[in-house]
Amino acid sequence: MNRKYNVLFISPEVVPFAKTGGLADVAGALPKALAKKGHNVKVIMPKYRVVDESKFGLRNKLSGLSVETADRRIGYDIKHTVDEKSSVEYLFVDCPQFFDRDSLYIDPSAGTDWADNDERFIMFSKAAIETAKLLGFKPDIVHCNDWQSALVIAYLKTIYAYDEFFIDTKTLFSIHNLAYQGNFPAEHFKKLGLGYEYFYPASPFEFWGKVSFMKAGIYFADAINTVSKTYAEEIQSSPEYGYGMEGLLRERSKDLYGIVNGIDYDVWNPEVDELIPHKYSIGNLEGKKLNKKALLEKAGLTVTKKDIPLIGIISRLADQKGFDLIAQISKDLLSLNLKIVLLGTGEKKYHDMFTALKKKHPRKLSVNLTFDNALAHLIEAGSDMFLMPSRYEPCGLNQLYSLKYGTIPIVRKTGGLADTIIDYNESDGYGTGFVFKNYDAYELLDMIKKALAVYRKKKEWSKLQENAMSMDFSWDRSAEHYVELYAKTVNSKSEKLQEA
Ligand code: ADP
Repeated sequence: MNRKYNVLFISPEVVPFAKTGGLADVAGALPKALAKKGHNVKVIMPKYRVVDESKFGLRNKLSGLSVETADRRIGYDIKHTVDEKSSVEYLFVDCPQFFDRDSLYIDPSAGTDWADNDERFIMFSKAAIETAKLLGFKPDIVHCNDWQSALVIAYLKTIYAYDEFFIDTKTLFSIHNLAYQGNFPAEHFKKLGLGYEYFYPASPFEFWGKVSFMKAGIYFADAINTVSKTYAEEIQSSPEYGYGMEGLLRERSKDLYGIVNGIDYDVWNPEVDELIPHKYSIGNLEGKKLNKKALLEKAGLTVTKKDIPLIGIISRLADQKGFDLIAQISKDLLSLNLKIVLLGTGEKKYHDMFTALKKKHPRKLSVNLTFDNALAHLIEAGSDMFLMPSRYEPCGLNQLYSLKYGTIPIVRKTGGLADTIIDYNESDGYGTGFVFKNYDAYELLDMIKKALAVYRKKKEWSKLQENAMSMDFSWDRSAEHYVELYAKTVNSKSEKLQEA
């Protein structure tokens, strides 16, 4: 019989409680998919202000606790709620001085990271470990996600290395985006409460003169994974993708895996989506046409008799997502016979760029500089194509949603985009989207033109939509790969511990 694992899943953001990006979607869906397979999963995250206590029925679990950071004790409580359908328990570290703020990581008044982000996530990591102990929940696997929870792994391999409670616990570190590393000034190392034997040039925490939480996670984890096979290779290949971690990642190559994300078809599926006005399915796309009309109206674009292709973009407005390419070709792009609806927030230069373009092309371009989940669903349902020309993309979720909604992705061949979208071949009708290779604005423009040309051939386009909509990226499959990785990790010998 397959072994069932106790999994402590630690993430800085989890859908439906708090989200800034794809990690939250993964942390929302993967634990449930694991629980469905019989594993016992507890998820732990910070109790940010945005977590709606009454909506989710949060109750007190533990109170009057404290951990030490930067030579002071920080008090906290643990709140919890249980998802009855999956029986996943969600635990919240309730520490108002660190998490009762109106943004997760960024100080909105300064537009930069919160100055105490290191202390916030030192505290969170220590609290997560202590909570498992206090609850008597002995994890077979502690599954950490991104730099904000990487210290859990480092602490388990240092301060807690000989703690009987965790003696059989193994750690997995999932990297959702290597560019966000949690690097802090060297003098902040003392806040971690660890000895300086862990901080000297080229030591586990030291990264170009700084303290790096991400580096410690990669160094200490029993196993590491990223969210697609191609990204797992890319981050070892060059500084462009590895952001300085490529050497360490190559050293850990035999423990580094790629598992592509799934998507939650209870949430992102035009057959059941409650956030779109007209449901539809692979057999009948009438509803999609009506959603396009609804989207055009909502986006302030005119509905015309002639069917003009509509391209959707939903994205963080960051260099990573390829907006510098769009900037280079914006004039040519907006001279084509198309409409574009953009939803995103991020860097000011892109807010300014799209605001200016909107002024010039009010009938072609809809610019929505906000975070709006309902509009994201409508864009997936109502657009004909979806644009994701990323410089790099660990996995990417929107291209997977797009497939399910018959909204044909136009993507760059990198990371998860390369692993999930098959370039359309006109000669045999095989493929699910349009894939260009080099990070080059004119390659992108050519690919958009190709997509527009195929769009005009209604029969071909319908076939392409059918190909896209029949792809299966359900979590069930990805969760199975995680279980295999857990099994491998649990059965491995802990070399670091044995050396110590
Ligand atoms: P990343 O995590 O790099 O931002 P992903 O494609 O993995 O990119 O995931 C992004 C997630 O965030 C998707 O679920 C996407 O729909 C959502 N999203 C991004 N920007 C917005 C926005 N402005 N409004 C609503 N949803 C958004």
